[in-house]
Amino acid sequence: MSVFSQTKIVYHSNKYSVQDDVKLGRQAAAEAEQQLPLLRDNEVTDYVERVGSRLAAAIPSEFQHPEFQYTFKVVNAKDINAFALPGGPMYVNRGMIEAARREGEMAGVMAHEISHVALRHGTAQASKGQKYGLLAGILGIGGQILGGPAGAAAQIAGQGVGVYFLKFSREYETEADILGAQIMARAGYDPSDLASMFQKIQRKGGGSSGGFMSSHPSPANRNARILQEAQYLRVQNSVGNTRDFDRIQAKLRGYGAAPTMAEIARSGQRNPTEGGDGGNYPANAPGGRVGYPSTRYRSYNELGFLTVSVPDNWRQLGENNSIWFVPEGGYGQVQGRGVFTHGVNFGVSQPQSRNLRQATEEFINSLAQGNNNLRQGSGFQRASISGRSGLSTTLSNVNEATGQREIVTLITTQLQNGDLFYMIAVAPQSEARSFTTAFNNILRSVRLNT
Ligand SMILES: [Zn+2]
Repeated sequence: MSVFSQTKIVYHSNKYSVQDDVKLGRQAAAEAEQQLPLLRDNEVTDYVERVGSRLAAAIPSEFQHPEFQYTFKVVNAKDINAFALPGGPMYVNRGMIEAARREGEMAGVMAHEISHVALRHGTAQASKGQKYGLLAGILGIGGQILGGPAGAAAQIAGQGVGVYFLKFSREYETEADILGAQIMARAGYDPSDLASMFQKIQRKGGGSSGGFMSSHPSPANRNARILQEAQYLRVQNSVGNTRDFDRIQAKLRGYGAAPTMAEIARSGQRNPTEGGDGGNYPANAPGGRVGYPSTRYRSYNELGFLTVSVPDNWRQLGENNSIWFVPEGGYGQVQGRGVFTHGVNFGVSQPQSRNLRQATEEFINSLAQGNNNLRQGSGFQRASISGRSGLSTTLSNVNEATGQREIVTLITTQLQNGDLFYMIAVAPQSEARSFTTAFNNILRSVRLNT
């Protein structure tokens, strides 16, 4: 005779409302996304969302909150990790997807994360007086969330982005493992995949800063406990074929190596907030000094198909379809608009024309909309970018912020889908020569994979 004894999990006491979870998570997600390089590859993101939605739909009804919205994004980081914020925003590292042997292993870690959210572990732990100020502290915002003491925030800020949110207690970890296993089975995955993924995480140094174990301490007998639970779970409507997983994993492996969380932390804040103090341009200019480009380069994967190396003393700023790499002081906010004085910009535009020259002219016209003093200084020359034929042209402009004359070099080529890919290099005329070598090196490093 067998006795069905699926473990019963209950909520911890929580003095915050469900709405607090949502608010806190939203705020933390905005901060996280300024700090973390998201992988801009719709195919990969859509896939992870599909798996995530399947899991979220399998949360047992007593742990479903209609207010919560589970969202899934991929972080271009090497460490095997994933984290979820209160109310539902989840971030899955590229390294985790690459390390998984099959979809079930990836889904296991996601189900574990979803369980922390569904069980409201963040605010439950905060209710016990444990510091939850670190979300702000960690990101160098210095603010307090849920009344976390400022001292704790400051203390944690030194640890970098690797430790994103509070370290859960081992008791909470066990609960997330068990509920995660239950969710997996309900969603059609074999819960023992969660155990095998944890084994892999332990073997591969998941305990280093930035790894999964740094924020999810391993309870004693973790794997045995998951496998025990698995015995009592019936996998429903097994997912079976996971060819999508194989395809996505192969695609990710085709990209260059992702940076580690530690490298991301060292490279500083990526995406300054609108109107915030993200750029230090106003303090440095006009007439401020911008350092020479470093002769050491760092490689980035961006836009889902671009690999490029840029001086390692430049930082990245970016939006969905337009990525900047700029030296300190080469960027600022002027009347709510980002203004660049030094750096390179990569992006994609969708021109009307399928002719490269006409498409490039269209693009220059669109640039001129926001830059009244932009003038084309040369005709078009043939150029090579990532082994493809392209066009280059030099433009001159008067910088909107400094009033200084600047040189703008534009290089374009077409992607297979007909979109126009562009690189813009900009520097003040008076400093242009100091930047020529770096701009040429960057151009030569560009690899397009679409
Ligand atoms: Zn955990």
